Amino acid sequence: MGNQLTEEPSAQQNLLNAVIFAAKKHQGQKRKGKNQDPYIFHPLNVAKVIMEIGHVYDQDIVLAAVLHDTLEDTTTTKKELIQNFGQKVTDIVDEVTDDKSLDKDQRKRLQVVHAPSLSNEARVVKLGDKLVNGRDILNSPPAGWTKSRMQEYIQWAFDVIAQIRGANAHLEAAFDTLVNEAEEQLDFTIQPFDTIDQRKWAP
Ligand code: ZN
Repeated sequence: MGNQLTEEPSAQQNLLNAVIFAAKKHQGQKRKGKNQDPYIFHPLNVAKVIMEIGHVYDQDIVLAAVLHDTLEDTTTTKKELIQNFGQKVTDIVDEVTDDKSLDKDQRKRLQVVHAPSLSNEARVVKLGDKLVNGRDILNSPPAGWTKSRMQEYIQWAFDVIAQIRGANAHLEAAFDTLVNEAEEQLDFTIQPFDTIDQRKWAP
């Protein structure tokens, strides 16, 4: 109803296409948490918090959230994303994609270095991603993660987010709440961003 005369798929169809695309691409992958959830829950939760907490319903941002780990963690190519979801969505996904050929510490450092140059759309996806990952680490820590490794993750996420504030006050407030919970639960004090030179991911 209502859309038969146009060739353009509706927003709902686009979203469903992105969900199916990401689910296929991430098929067989699991989250690191002790629940071993199928990986697809992660990008879906990122899209969910962006809408429910961030009140962001922009189609390009929501699709990019669903697809945000396809370039980094699956065989998906940029060309494939462009063909299926357009240039804008692809650009946002590309902005939040780490270079997997680098080691983990180097990737952490580069996220800190690149954060200030992210577009507003990519900042929203990044906020959702760090919020969901932080919550997962507190609620379902990856097997073998020590308290200090979890503290380090939250501090690093805080340092990335510190540089992209202003993109979405609701998501930032939810992230701050998460940081407070982490300080309580993991028994540490988050260090302000201006002490970043003391960290191993210092830019
Ligand atoms: Zn992610």
